[in-house]
Amino acid sequence: MSELRPETRVVHPPQPPVEHSRPITMPIYQTSGFVFDDPAVMADAMGRPDGPFVYGRYSNPTVRALESAVSGLEGGVAAFATGSGMGAINTVLFGLLKPGDHVIAQKSLYGGTAATLNDLTARFGVTVTYVDEADPGAVREAARPETRMLYLETISNPMTLVADLPGMCAAARELGLVSVVDNTFASPVLCRPIEHGADIVVHSTTKYLSGHTDVVGGLAVFRDHELHEKVWHHSTVLGASADPFPAWLTLRGMQTLALRMERHCSNARLLATRLAEHPAVTAVHWPGLPSHPSYEVAGKLLPDFGGVFSFDLAGGRAAGERFMKSVRLALLAPSLGGVETLTLHPATTSHRSLDAEALARFGIGEGTVRIAVGIEHPEDLWADIEQALAD
Ligand SMILES: *Cc1c(COP(=O)(O)O)cnc(C)c1O
Repeated sequence: MSELRPETRVVHPPQPPVEHSRPITMPIYQTSGFVFDDPAVMADAMGRPDGPFVYGRYSNPTVRALESAVSGLEGGVAAFATGSGMGAINTVLFGLLKPGDHVIAQKSLYGGTAATLNDLTARFGVTVTYVDEADPGAVREAARPETRMLYLETISNPMTLVADLPGMCAAARELGLVSVVDNTFASPVLCRPIEHGADIVVHSTTKYLSGHTDVVGGLAVFRDHELHEKVWHHSTVLGASADPFPAWLTLRGMQTLALRMERHCSNARLLATRLAEHPAVTAVHWPGLPSHPSYEVAGKLLPDFGGVFSFDLAGGRAAGERFMKSVRLALLAPSLGGVETLTLHPATTSHRSLDAEALARFGIGEGTVRIAVGIEHPEDLWADIEQALAD
C-alpha cells in the first residue's frame, strides 16, 4: 500500500490485529457497517438476525453484547436493542399488529404507551380494551376472535400497581394471545416476566438498566426465535435501532444493576415506611406496604418492591408544589432509575393534561408526589424530605 498517495492513505488507515489476547470489557464498535470478503456471505447476512454483522441498523457487536446480556438475564432466547424505550415498544406493536386487530391492555399504562395505542386506534383501527392489571377473568371476558395481544407492566407509574403476571399471562396463553410485559420498573433483578409466561419483555434501558441518567435506550426480549425473527425483520426497516456508544454505556451501567437495585429498594422501604407515619401525608403508594392494593400480588411475584413510590400530601396541590420547591437533595426532574433521587408532581407535570376527574381515574391526587429513589444514604434523603415537608 506504500505506493498510495496521502489522500488515499488517510481514508484507509491500517487496523492493528488483536491476537493472542482480548479486551476485558466489550469494545465500542463505532462503525456503521462491516466489510465482507465474500458477496454470498454478505447477501445471507442481510436476511437473518443471527447472521454476520452487516449494517448498523441491523446489528452491531457492541449492541449485540447488550442484547445478549439482557436476554440472558430475562431468560429469553434473543433480543433487539433500540434508541429508546418507546422505540422498542413501538417496534413490537407495529411489528405484530395490523388494522382491525384488538389489544387487551392494563389501565394504568405508561403515558407514551397509552398515546401510541390511542394513535393505533385513531389511524389504523386497532381497538383496545383496558382491564385491571390483576384480573385474568377480565382478559377472558374481553377477548374476541380478532384479539392478538395482552399488554402489561410489571410495576406501573406512578401508583406502583403490580400486574398478576402468572394469572394474566396464563389467560393470554389459553386465548392464543401474545403477551407483552414492560419490565422497566422491576428490572430483571426483581422480576423475569418470561418465567411467568410472558412472550415478549420490553424495557426502557434509560432507567434502571443503564442506571446513570446519561443514556436513552430501549430493548425487547423474546421467549422464542420465531417471534423474535418476525419483529426483527420489521425492526430493520422501522429503524429505531440502538447505536453502539449508548449500548456500551448501558452495558457498563448494568454491571452494578444488582447492587443498585438492592439499595434503591432498601432506600424506598425506609422512606415509604417513615412517610406513611408522617402527619402531612395521607397515603403512601409502594407495593411493599400492607396498605397497598397490590401488596399480596407483589409479595408472590417480587423479592423486593422497587425504587419508585408516590405519596399523597394532605395539603393537596399547593402542598405538592411547595414540596417540589423545598427539596434540596432530591432533584425536580423527569425519568427514574438513576443513581440520583428524582421527584416530580404528576398533577402539574407528567399528567398535567388530565383534569381532576381523569387524575382520580388514574388514582393520582392533586397532592400526589412521585419519588424515584436513588442510591444516596437513606438518612440524607429522609432529612431532605422531612425539611421539605416542614416548609
Ligand atoms: C420511560 C419509560 C418508557 C419509555 O422509555 P424511553 O426510554 O423514555 O423511550 C416506557 N415504559 C416505562 C415503564 C417507562 O418508565
